[in-house]
Amino acid sequence: MSADIGVIGLAVMGQNLILNMNDHGIKVVAFNRTVSKVDDFLNGPAKGTHIQGARSLQELVDKLATPRKVMLMVRAGAVVDDFIAQLVPLLSPGDIIIDGGNTNFPDTNRRVAALREQGIHFVGTGVSGGEEGARFGPSLMPGGAPEAWPHIKPIFQGIAAKAPVSADGKGGEPCCDWVGRDGAGHFVKMVHNGIEYGDMQLIAEVYHFMKVALGMDHEQMHQAFDSWRSTELDSYLVDITTDILAFKDDDGEPLVEKILDSAGQKGTGKWTGINALDLGIPLTLITESVFARCLSSLKAERLQAESAFGRSIEAVQGDQGQWVEALRQALLASKIISYAQGFMLMREASNEHGWELNYGNVAMMWRGGCIIRSAFLGNIRDAFEQDSELQFLGLDPYFKNILESCLPAWRKVAAKSLEIGLPMPCTTSALAFLDGFTLGQVPANLIQAQRDYFGAHTYERIDRPRGEFFHTNWTGTG
Ligand code: NAP
Repeated sequence: MSADIGVIGLAVMGQNLILNMNDHGIKVVAFNRTVSKVDDFLNGPAKGTHIQGARSLQELVDKLATPRKVMLMVRAGAVVDDFIAQLVPLLSPGDIIIDGGNTNFPDTNRRVAALREQGIHFVGTGVSGGEEGARFGPSLMPGGAPEAWPHIKPIFQGIAAKAPVSADGKGGEPCCDWVGRDGAGHFVKMVHNGIEYGDMQLIAEVYHFMKVALGMDHEQMHQAFDSWRSTELDSYLVDITTDILAFKDDDGEPLVEKILDSAGQKGTGKWTGINALDLGIPLTLITESVFARCLSSLKAERLQAESAFGRSIEAVQGDQGQWVEALRQALLASKIISYAQGFMLMREASNEHGWELNYGNVAMMWRGGCIIRSAFLGNIRDAFEQDSELQFLGLDPYFKNILESCLPAWRKVAAKSLEIGLPMPCTTSALAFLDGFTLGQVPANLIQAQRDYFGAHTYERIDRPRGEFFHTNWTGTG
């Protein structure tokens, strides 16, 4: 019997996606470069399922119903180009190739255009949720050749996570929809990962304040995070942080304290920051979170500098419960700023590339299945449903109200962290962003004067129409 889809790549993501597809009645044929892994899979996790195997790309293609759909779950980069080059001679016009890896979106732009020339519809899809998401319901963000969408929609929406149903009956939608043309799907996945960096750093800053400034033990921190699960902060990352803080090593001590404080990264946060700089969007929080990981990795240098400066952080006095509540508010407000900046970046990219992104749909795709899933994304979806042209999430009445009510506690936490020298780069930069963004007058007039002074770069005047440029001889000489 012909298969509905072929999946190439039998590492952790490919295997789990295939098993998920099989659970949903989708007929899959599996292939892997190291062919022995096909048999290992069929005789192992796939035993007793309807999953078929292929020992060559020709066999894979021959087993597929038309239009053929082939999904690559392989290492991103040149490997994807290699498989495309091998597949194209075996496929026919109208067939579909899907790349489900963590690909940088310009590569997807290029592949969509190149394959269009050959009549092949190429899709680049974000896949989030890691191993468990792939197995039981990922968040999927497909973009590329729109002709492919009707053919892959039942498969993708069938296996995707479903948004949790809320008390008002909203939810249940698949966390997957068509994102847009060309590399739009991989762009949105990249921003998702950038937001993930920001959320993780914000939580880490709060943990640092609790542990070092408030002197809380792990049970107290666990309790604090646990109580936040029933607030607007209800999210996967708060859930796992709660679990991590309670986890004990074999000797009964908290395992988290034995982990080297040097954060790794694979590049998607960096790509998000680079794109923000390219597009001129003040994505300060995510970019700070990438730099925080860079700083953390300078362990030896930090140790040397700590002793040179004789650093220590003094304890914070006052009611611990009140400080914990202030931290919750600072985290929530900072998180709103991070998402607001992420959506500003997507809007600018959408305008630049003509993607016509639907921001409410993007929030819905992230509502379940992925690492940044949270209750909060349901409110973001509502905000964009009410105003699809919303330029800044903080102007939506729901989020504006939270920002305003959290502001005093947020300032208190930020000020105290600066006073005692406990770094909270994302919490404080989020506040600086809001303070700048909500001011009609910032000191860039002086910057324009300086630029004109040393470089004759000219300036506009507030008492003349925009677009008229002036230059002044600031020294009165020459
Ligand atoms: P991976 O470790 O990124 O890649 C392993 C797969 O790539 C294997 O099938 C391997 O084949 C193949 N491969 C590697 N080098 C190759 C080469 N030179 N030529 C041909 N095939 C080659 O696998 P993964 O972790 O399952 O991830 C798959 C994709 O999903 C990646 O792009 C990853 O970034 C993305 N992703 C991963 C996660 C996650 O949580 N792991 C989450 C979302 C997205 P062999 O078995 O023959 O070596």
